Amino acid sequence: TASVVLFTSDLRLHDHPPLRAASAGGRQVVPLFVRDRGVTDAGFAVPNRLAFLSDCLRDLDAGLRERGGRLVVRCGDVVEEVCAVAAAAGAGEVHMAADVSGYAQLRERRLRRALEADGRRLHVHDTVTTVLAPGALTPAASDHFAVFTPYFRHWSVQRVRDPLGAPRVVQVPDGIASEGLPFRAALSGVSPETAAGGETAGRKRLTAWLRSGLAGYADRHDDLAGDATSRLSPHLHFGTLSPVELVHRARKAGGPGAEAFVRQLAWRDFHRQVLAARPAAAVTDYRTRRDRWRSERTARADIEAWREGRTGFPVIDAAMRQLRHEGWMHNRGRLLTASFLTKTLYVDWRVGARHFLELLVDGDLANNQLNWQWVAGTGTDTRPNRVLNPVAQGRRHDPDGAYVRRWVPELAGVAGAAVHEPWKLRDRAGISGYPDRVVDLADGLARFRQARSLE
Ligand code: FAD
Repeated sequence: TASVVLFTSDLRLHDHPPLRAASAGGRQVVPLFVRDRGVTDAGFAVPNRLAFLSDCLRDLDAGLRERGGRLVVRCGDVVEEVCAVAAAAGAGEVHMAADVSGYAQLRERRLRRALEADGRRLHVHDTVTTVLAPGALTPAASDHFAVFTPYFRHWSVQRVRDPLGAPRVVQVPDGIASEGLPFRAALSGVSPETAAGGETAGRKRLTAWLRSGLAGYADRHDDLAGDATSRLSPHLHFGTLSPVELVHRARKAGGPGAEAFVRQLAWRDFHRQVLAARPAAAVTDYRTRRDRWRSERTARADIEAWREGRTGFPVIDAAMRQLRHEGWMHNRGRLLTASFLTKTLYVDWRVGARHFLELLVDGDLANNQLNWQWVAGTGTDTRPNRVLNPVAQGRRHDPDGAYVRRWVPELAGVAGAAVHEPWKLRDRAGISGYPDRVVDLADGLARFRQARSLE
């Protein structure tokens, strides 16, 4: 009999354990993607990610057609649609990848119950969206690791399963109804320079990255203007690339760049095992800090300036403008803008996390919320009260000022690192239109230290 493979955050054919298991022995499969009403209702289906998703679904369908199959797309409640498709195909089994958010865990429980009531079985596969399964490593006294360093010590010595090739043939039964595929071009509100989605684009970027980016990664990953990170995050978020395959290919390439890169993939697994064990950490503080953040009403003008890249701090404004234009931001930019919002402006991390999720193509509940908490000092950082200084950090990670000039045209005429402190320029005529600082850094620091009782 046929099986259903439910694709969620694993939109690829290479290294896809659920598809491999379902189609073993030449069995028929229904490759299914549900445009889930629950995801849309939660506000998660924003234009930038929908654009990337449209590319992914088209590419997945094309890949399946090359192998004799096709993608079935349905819209509605994911559990109802999977059950309807399984019934139409006479499928006894449904295969899917494990996932970590509270929503994904609930979806899995609902799906299992509904399928079992119909006499069908749900198979949930680990190590599809992560390198190691979230519960695979635990310290002695807890169900998850709360600190990265000991987690990584264990993680880095585990055997990583071998990646699987893409199937050569996929046979899909006739007569299963499908909606049309979505179109990127039909969407409005997409940032002008978002990355192209799909497994084909992802594999191309990966190959280019391994050839020319990886070797310099350890030295250059913090260089804002150099833009020397992989930019694979949207592909990891949508699963057009397998994290397991990435670890194998990076390790095969070898060198300090590979080690540093694989460590970042461990960070991704780390946040996933935290969220799997504490799904509420997507909305509530992971550690209770009793922060009394400024109210959104009091801080409204500051929040607006931050969102729009008009804070008067060039490196902050450059990064926020990059986010709006590309739907992506350099990791150093994310650290600086998040520190600035939560610690210098003393605004709740949830306000910033929400804005990021509205725009990031790689916007991901585990990585976004837990990195925001890490920076805000409510999460897993072991130095929760450190504050990043945007001027010192700008000088350090954009020493020539090229990153700022690229994104802040008002400052394009200012040469060198002086661009990080426009208020010190003797001749300010050339920078008309660039805003004054929304806060004095010393005042911001004093407010934060007082609020956290650090005096
Ligand atoms: P590379 O440096 O090439 O790293 C390779 C991969 O490792 C990334 O694609 C990513 O999957 C993973 N990775 C790297 N850094 C981290 C990290 N700190 N935590 C977890 N995984 C990591 N990443 C997201 O994928 N989605 C988000 O929504 C997200 N929000 C963030 C919010 C804040 C406030 C901060 C500080 C970081 C956030 N990150 C997020 C993590 C990180 O900034 C991005 O993964 C990275 O910038 C993506 O660029 P890259 O693919 O070139 O990364």
